[in-house]
Amino acid sequence: MSAGIPEELRETVESLKVEVAALHAELPRNNLVVWTAGNVSARVPGADLLVIKPSGVSYDDLTPEAMVVCDFDAKLVAGERSPSSDTAAHAYVYRHMPEVGGVVHTHSDYATAWAARREPIPCVLTMIADEFGGDIPIGPFALIGDDSIGRGIVETLRASRSRAVLMANHGPFTIGRDARDAVKAAVMVEDVARTVHLARQLGDTVPIAQSDIDRLFQRYQNVYGQH
Ligand SMILES: [Zn+2]
Repeated sequence: MSAGIPEELRETVESLKVEVAALHAELPRNNLVVWTAGNVSARVPGADLLVIKPSGVSYDDLTPEAMVVCDFDAKLVAGERSPSSDTAAHAYVYRHMPEVGGVVHTHSDYATAWAARREPIPCVLTMIADEFGGDIPIGPFALIGDDSIGRGIVETLRASRSRAVLMANHGPFTIGRDARDAVKAAVMVEDVARTVHLARQLGDTVPIAQSDIDRLFQRYQNVYGQH
């Protein structure tokens, strides 16, 4: 079923399905998910459409053909199964952040532990300054079912340079210029959440000066390995 996809976008959608399916394999590979939790989506450039995984399907069965296409109201446009229950949150982000090409959500252990404490991950590592430009913020507590998760993500990220937000008592959502970039942010946020947690067991962490955070972030975003 692909009747809802404009003819000129079908090739793009097919290649995004391959890409998004392959990126889903990175979530269990990086120990970011258990069972069927977690999801990756990609914006379809030039349309108000996104590619995401179906709901409740084992990671072993997430083939390109299993991926679904939804509009920005989270309505199924193409695919055999119902979309991930987090599709509305992804769609809200694409609708309100036109620069975003990919969104990832997991309940990865260490990042979610910070979310359970509603404590931002402090910018005490150069890697946090590089990747996230400062503390990794906490988003509001929001229940699934309406726009509140999406709204909480967008409002929190707009007030920050971070590409990751820890939704209170829930877990991380990350964004990127494409789906791969958002998966990278999901891996990185879990890694720094773990390292800062370990540092805390040894004693107090030491903040990095704001001017140094700014320099690290500017350099990494503008020079190192980008574009
Ligand atoms: Zn969740």
